[in-house]
Amino acid sequence: MFDIPKTMRAIVYRGANDLRFETIPVPSIGPNELLVKVAVCGVCPTDIKKIHYGLVTPPRIFGHETAGTIVKIGGGKSKLAVRSHSSKTIFKVGDRVALHHHIPCMSCHFCRHRAFAQCATYKRTGITAGFEPAGGGYAEYVRVMPFVLPGVVKVPSKNTFEEAAMLEPLNTVLKAVNRLNLLRGDRVMVAGQGPIGLMFTRLLKLRGVNVLATDLLESRLKLAKKFGAKWTMNLTNKKSSADEFQKRAGTFDAAVIAVPSDDAVDQSLQLIRGGGQVLLFAHTKRATKPGQGRGGASSGYFPLDLASVCLDEKDLIGSYSADFTIQDEVARLIFSRQFDMRKLITHRFSLGKTAEAVALASHPTEDSLKIVVVRDP
Ligand SMILES: [Zn+2]
Ligand SMILES: [Zn+2]
Repeated sequence: MFDIPKTMRAIVYRGANDLRFETIPVPSIGPNELLVKVAVCGVCPTDIKKIHYGLVTPPRIFGHETAGTIVKIGGGKSKLAVRSHSSKTIFKVGDRVALHHHIPCMSCHFCRHRAFAQCATYKRTGITAGFEPAGGGYAEYVRVMPFVLPGVVKVPSKNTFEEAAMLEPLNTVLKAVNRLNLLRGDRVMVAGQGPIGLMFTRLLKLRGVNVLATDLLESRLKLAKKFGAKWTMNLTNKKSSADEFQKRAGTFDAAVIAVPSDDAVDQSLQLIRGGGQVLLFAHTKRATKPGQGRGGASSGYFPLDLASVCLDEKDLIGSYSADFTIQDEVARLIFSRQFDMRKLITHRFSLGKTAEAVALASHPTEDSLKIVVVRDP
């Protein structure tokens, strides 16, 4: 049905800041595995961090926000039945799908506590274009291993591959929103209105929450309004925003920190009421030297008045990565366009220009939000 070549083009990570456009073999697949021809792959900050700082050993092929077409099923089958968390799906050659690269075992100690991101099986990456599995979306074809199949979702014909590639990031945001104890009409500050911050703003709005959106870029605050923010605050003027936070102190139910800023955490702890929550979503860089104090944008060590936790009962919580048990809800939100992801995607690069896509994503401009790599026509 599909002609599958022997070799393909891929962006291979060869070391810190070293991405090369290479020709490599198309991955071979085993029984019950899928070969997917990649249509779109989103550029994600977690991959950018690994590329810039050389945090993992090369060679690898990154890219995990992937959507494409099933071109082959392992063992020469034309159909494959997969039981996911809540339903059974039959995958066929030719199906358009959104991929999901991390699935927990559901039976270990972590999984029984729903701490899926800590599960050893979850930490394994089940999608690869070759080398050490790392997502593989920056290649023409990927191999999808059996253990991640429960997270794969079919894409309705009315929706685009670009929308489908947004399932993974929106899943991580919905998982985080579910950690907040919120009632309709509550107030939440969302610090940072990049693609992730805007996803928070929109999902919270859909839950009937009043959002205060903050950022340094006016264009992003305008968009936050369109996504449903009730109030916006531009933090460029430090003095007036400090006054504003003072005025609003104790009036918010929660704050979401979608930028790696310690100041934002500091302000949020004052801003929220007693019993409120501060959710960290962007503080993923570990501290290197204990006792070095705060070094601007996140040294990792943070002075905290512990009475704000004990006496004021404020919770400091975090959320990391995705939860495949909410994948159906994420798919519904995106495919129904209750959350129209098309408004978030601003830039498209061909596979050979992936390094440029990564550079733009790491230095956002006034008009850049979500950036995707698309298959060459
Ligand atoms: Zn991601
Ligand atoms: Zn587990």
